[in-house]
Amino acid sequence: MALITCPECRKKISETAAQCPQCGYHLTPEKAAKIKQADGTARGIGCLVILGLVLAVAMCSRGNDSKPSDATNQSPSVSNDSPSASLTPGEHTIASDKLFGCTDRDEFEKIIGFAVEKDSDAFGKELATGMLSGQCVMFSAGETVFLSDTAMFSGLIQVRRKGETLAYWTNLEAISK
Ligand SMILES: [Zn+2]
Repeated sequence: MALITCPECRKKISETAAQCPQCGYHLTPEKAAKIKQADGTARGIGCLVILGLVLAVAMCSRGNDSKPSDATNQSPSVSNDSPSASLTPGEHTIASDKLFGCTDRDEFEKIIGFAVEKDSDAFGKELATGMLSGQCVMFSAGETVFLSDTAMFSGLIQVRRKGETLAYWTNLEAISK
């Protein structure tokens, strides 16, 4: 026994019922079969419509950035961006603490190399040396940086801290959430 939609009151009724318990609509097996078929089609169309709406909403939300009402909740929407979308030039936010960058790319890769080798002594020593010489800096979570260059093949990016002229090499993960 399946449920069908009453054509009169749109309530779900049994396809075997002789009449709708809600509005008294008289049901025959032929009518029930037709309604059942229509119900199935409607459900299929409904799915397509919903899918279409989801796509439309997704596309609209991308193009809505200029809407004044969206200006206040711009920062949460930025965090929803995919990593590839966050690689646009301009302002970015540092994703977490414990991230650092170096003006010299070789220096940065050298320090990262120690981290990969899990040689924390060498890592700490090299990072401290880099920071003392002003070559390397620790970023803080939420800090604003400007993306100035990317070396996608190596997963490295070059960012500039707000108000500073030096650019630092760091990991792509630093600005992608
Ligand atoms: Zn009815």
